[in-house]
Amino acid sequence: MIRNLERLTNQKFDVLVVGGGIHGAITAWDAALRGLSVALIERGDFGSGTSQNSLKIIHGGLRYLQNGNLSRIRTMIRERTTWMKIAPHLIHPLTCVMPTTYKMPHSQLVMGLALRANDVLSFDRNQLGDPEKDLPDGIIVTQKELSRILPGYDISTSTGAAVWYDAQIYNSERLLLEFILSAAQADAEVANYVEAINFLQQGNRIVGVQARDVQTGQIFDIQSRLVINCAGAWMNCLLEKAALRSEYATSVAMNVIVDQVWSNVAVGLTSQPINGKPPQVLFIVPWRNKSMIGTYHIPWRDAPHMFQLKESMVQGFLDEINSAHAPLKLALKDVRQVTWGFLPVNHEDAKGQHVKLTRDGVVIDHQKNDGVSGLISVLGVKYTTARVVAEQAMNLAMCKLGMKTQRCQTDTTPVKGGRIDDFNSFLRQARSEAAGAVNERFTEHLVYTYGSDYQNLLQCVMKQPDLARRIDAPLPVTVAEVEHAVHQEMALTLADVIRRRTELGATGLPSLATLQKCAGLLGYEFQWSLERQQQEIDSVLQAYRFKQMENITA
Ligand SMILES: Cc1cc2nc3c(=O)[nH]c(=O)nc-3n(C[C@H](O)[C@H](O)[C@H](O)COP(=O)(O)OP(=O)(O)OC[C@H]3O[C@@H](n4cnc5c(N)ncnc54)[C@H](O)[C@@H]3O)c2cc1C
Repeated sequence: MIRNLERLTNQKFDVLVVGGGIHGAITAWDAALRGLSVALIERGDFGSGTSQNSLKIIHGGLRYLQNGNLSRIRTMIRERTTWMKIAPHLIHPLTCVMPTTYKMPHSQLVMGLALRANDVLSFDRNQLGDPEKDLPDGIIVTQKELSRILPGYDISTSTGAAVWYDAQIYNSERLLLEFILSAAQADAEVANYVEAINFLQQGNRIVGVQARDVQTGQIFDIQSRLVINCAGAWMNCLLEKAALRSEYATSVAMNVIVDQVWSNVAVGLTSQPINGKPPQVLFIVPWRNKSMIGTYHIPWRDAPHMFQLKESMVQGFLDEINSAHAPLKLALKDVRQVTWGFLPVNHEDAKGQHVKLTRDGVVIDHQKNDGVSGLISVLGVKYTTARVVAEQAMNLAMCKLGMKTQRCQTDTTPVKGGRIDDFNSFLRQARSEAAGAVNERFTEHLVYTYGSDYQNLLQCVMKQPDLARRIDAPLPVTVAEVEHAVHQEMALTLADVIRRRTELGATGLPSLATLQKCAGLLGYEFQWSLERQQQEIDSVLQAYRFKQMENITA
């Protein structure tokens, strides 16, 4: 995948996607698969907005049974299956547990009925033909079983637990990248570090954008028949350039990563009311050999760029977590990483004390709403539903372009690396083929990370032992992966490599020695001076700034 800004300027595209989060990435892939000429620009790195901060759960929508929104639940169930089909190396089943209590709504009776309804609604979930992806029926277990599943959990107030199955993204940054790589493979022109700074307009028609290369400051025009605004929380900032505004505002949502609480299962626990805030269900999710806990919501009324994470906000979240499971006694010093991003709320709801999230993705037709043609905006609310929202956006785009007949193919086409029919058989085969040359854990790491393309990396390290050197042992990330990120995956900064191409920063700030080693490798590739290498290290430290702000050592 080559970043070629000249090719962005010397043709007129059918579609230009602005924003390389999960919605933009899938929209560009969808457009390319439908045979359109398409470009995508992202002002930071791909996925560097909200998308890199999710809790990584692909939800089947069990919680929406409370609202009785069966159509939303069906969509989420179908999408969960689709994700496992098109990206089988990156989406895997996740066991979820929620203690049942004597009280509504988490009594055994209510939860048992909810699990039954969920099983009925997801009657078609196990038709992929891959046993690894099968999700068993939900069950209610006894108090004794709960204490076995969650050692250390105070079972005195619970009557047992509800157990059901969802899916988890093994690496959401790489999943997003696979869509970008797949779009590029289908001839889309994609470029990170390119910002749309204005629209090109002819009367009431948008005909492209004026763009800025963030790395050099160079300004140039990109022409297109249609612009699709996938700028996430910055959707309104972009719309303002055409004197438009949507009815949506943003709120802030946060997760924390701490040492492992429980392994293998995601646990839903209910917090106590604090400072007038009603109880929330929080999930403690297994994450590598740590735990990720989410999600804490913070009302926010200003522009996204004005938001600054404060110690008091993280403390507020820890209080909420501790109220849900007192033995944790989490303090700021226990937090390895804070990840936060933006979620949409309605303007009116944004004025309230508590966050009331927008529940469904929205595709906005600005011709219909505002009389401005050539522009569509996409408002995403969940990673889980991003593919189907992108499909809706492209269906509208095809109508606008007068090309209605081309059907969406993203629900049946495997992403790059996704050509695997039976995950466990594939893994066994890969292990046996690589046996003797590399250890099993390394092969596993390659298969989970690169899927059916794992051989590319394996061949590199087998042919050139120099590339097999580990960056941060015992993590299985090698020099080969860093080079691959630069040459094949458009990594341009140290943060791109640490946070969004490799596992190096997946559970917190890597050691200074790791940062220096990586900066040295990139310095060699990009001819960076020592001063530039230090700037790159500083910007990674800044990306993990909660650690800096609190002066906490990892
Ligand atoms: C804490 C948290 C936990 C979550 N957990 C889950 C979960 O477990 N499961 C789930 O399904 N969903 C979850 N979500 C929701 C999900 O992560 C988001 O819905 C999704 O990532 C939003 O994607 P996006 O593409 O709309 O936005 P973004 O990822 O923010 O992408 C928008 C991109 O546009 C770029 N951009 C903006 N302006 C311009 C411009 N002028 N020019 C070029 N580029 C521009 C930005 O840099 C950004 O990268 C969670 C969200 C948060 C915050």
